[in-house]
Amino acid sequence: MTFDHTTTEPLLSIRNVARRFSIPQGLLKPPKVLNAVNGIDLDVAPGEIVGIVGESGCGKSTLGRIVTGLMPASEGTILLGGRDVSTIPRLELARLVQPIFQDPYSSLNPRRSIAGTVAEPLHIHGIGESSKRFEKAVEMLDRVGLPSRFANHFPSQLSGGQRQRVAIARALILNPQLIVCDEPTSALDVSVQSQILNLLMELRRDFKLTYLFISHNLAVVEHIADRVGVMYLGRIAEMAPAPDLFAAPRHPYSQALLNSVLTPEPGAGVPDIGLRGTFPDPLNPPAGCVFHPRCPREFGPCSSRVPALLPADSGQGSGQVACHLANPEFSSPTEPLHVA
Ligand code: SF4
Repeated sequence: MTFDHTTTEPLLSIRNVARRFSIPQGLLKPPKVLNAVNGIDLDVAPGEIVGIVGESGCGKSTLGRIVTGLMPASEGTILLGGRDVSTIPRLELARLVQPIFQDPYSSLNPRRSIAGTVAEPLHIHGIGESSKRFEKAVEMLDRVGLPSRFANHFPSQLSGGQRQRVAIARALILNPQLIVCDEPTSALDVSVQSQILNLLMELRRDFKLTYLFISHNLAVVEHIADRVGVMYLGRIAEMAPAPDLFAAPRHPYSQALLNSVLTPEPGAGVPDIGLRGTFPDPLNPPAGCVFHPRCPREFGPCSSRVPALLPADSGQGSGQVACHLANPEFSSPTEPLHVA
């Protein structure tokens, strides 16, 4: 499925969203401010899968929690179908937006049966009679590839992949519009990961779903996403259609990330991406372009001016990049943004 997200009214529209945390520094020092998410703009078209990638600590999971309504933004607006989510009642928002998390075991109640788990949202929202809820849960289990004999099992009797199918069934039973997937396959064996990804893609088609898909695993995101946003230290460094990003990343950080060794280990960050320096302290972020201390292409304005997210290739391509090399004010024809 391909999208021209620019001609479709977005389902999800994020504008200048920020999330700050106050971090205590001990008795005698004032707290410091951590900008976990810092001025994110993002549109997601109906039916689109937008991947968000970046190293551990870049703010991608915080962004997912904000979109899901599990955490308020400190600043900015989020529109869902044109409605400001801060004005949507909590229960209604839960019907419209559902999360799928990394660890299905910890997100399932070990004492509740599989059918009871899947039917629980119907109970919370007062939908249907008890017997109908059970029937609907069994139908949904079947739809995610779990036979009805699993209905009275408990999470401990299921494999990791089966538990994630239960979590997906529970997320879908309220017929949501948007699913926020946060590392949904990271805790699974590689062989099971592709089954779950293929299931998510089938369900997208059949239920007309839209996904915000957060992962540190570039291979997974390349497999599933229509467009990809690369995050670094709370900001989007690059946003591009997935084929364009993986064929020719524009931002120096995206280039390093794609050249890196991929790891299926969740939370491990991205090892050895061949950059100078280490991931900066988010409590003391660098001035100017936050990537400049590690950037192999740093030049004049990088240490003092924050790059805006601008159309890449002078607007010829469909991606955007936050790098002064993409800004005609700074770049020169002898310094192309993309280096093969
Ligand atoms: Fe590198 Fe400068 Fe571009 Fe930042 S703005 S990515 S430091 S070239």
